[in-house]
Amino acid sequence: MSESRRAPKVIAVANQKGGVGKTTTAINLGTALAAIGKAVVLLDLDPQGNASTGLGVPPSERRSTSYDVLVGERPLKETLVDTLVPGLRLAPSDPDLSGAEIELASAPRRSYRLRKTIERYRDDLADRGERCDYVLIDCPPSLNLLTVNAMTAADSVLVPLQAEFFALEGLSQLMRTVDLVKANLNTGLAIQGVVLTMVDTRNNLSRQVEDDVRAHFGDKVYKTVIPRNVRVSEAPSFGKPVLLYDLQCAGSQAYAGLARELVQQERGQAAGNIREMA
Ligand code: ADP
Ligand code: MG
Repeated sequence: MSESRRAPKVIAVANQKGGVGKTTTAINLGTALAAIGKAVVLLDLDPQGNASTGLGVPPSERRSTSYDVLVGERPLKETLVDTLVPGLRLAPSDPDLSGAEIELASAPRRSYRLRKTIERYRDDLADRGERCDYVLIDCPPSLNLLTVNAMTAADSVLVPLQAEFFALEGLSQLMRTVDLVKANLNTGLAIQGVVLTMVDTRNNLSRQVEDDVRAHFGDKVYKTVIPRNVRVSEAPSFGKPVLLYDLQCAGSQAYAGLARELVQQERGQAAGNIREMA
């Protein structure tokens, strides 16, 4: 029987390539999940802080951050700030995160720090009778200690993949890291899914990449693909998720579809677990 898991479900949004849509996916999937009634925390673990800025929390408003959580062992709940999106709270990033790897170089169990924090957060929620359904971790574009902490804390990894020629190239390295984390740090880690981003359906290459990715990852690839859409790229400069910036655009509709598909996937897993128990 599968191990029973306490809420929230923790999903690391990871890919060591930059510019593939990790942050865009974390922000907009988080928003879309909140819009269907889920309580969501986005933990910005990238020193660049694009998720924080994109959710309208500029550096001047980041008092307590994911750096404090990771390095200073501050409780996660103390760093959470509200965003424009009801139901979506943010643990903002801090440029100091870029030094965390060195600061933690000799710390014992340094890969487990975020996991410990999130365990404590789960306990806090239970004590206070509060609800949190998902923690999405926006990872930096690297397979460094920050990403390893995210994967060690996570139940699953969600991989945004840009539909372009070199997309598959870095993927085996990413999957090797997932396997290493699974073998050594977090046996429960799963692949949540692969989501194709910036897809241009009129482009043959984009279609070819999509076919290759589906052939390789099968039903782990979401049916929903995120199209390349200028509204998606405009939204962060207004400090808004695209769903608030232009709900009707193709990008918003795609992220809403992705959230529905993810929740459906969870229901399927829950049903499977019940069958195993019966
Ligand atoms: P990462 O976090 O992986 O580095 P981002 O989410 O920051 O990637 O995306 C990289 C750039 O691509 C950003 O400028 C973002 O606005 C843009 N972008 C992401 N997804 C889309 C999309 N579906 N359509 C158009 N632009 C996009
Ligand atoms: Mg990013």
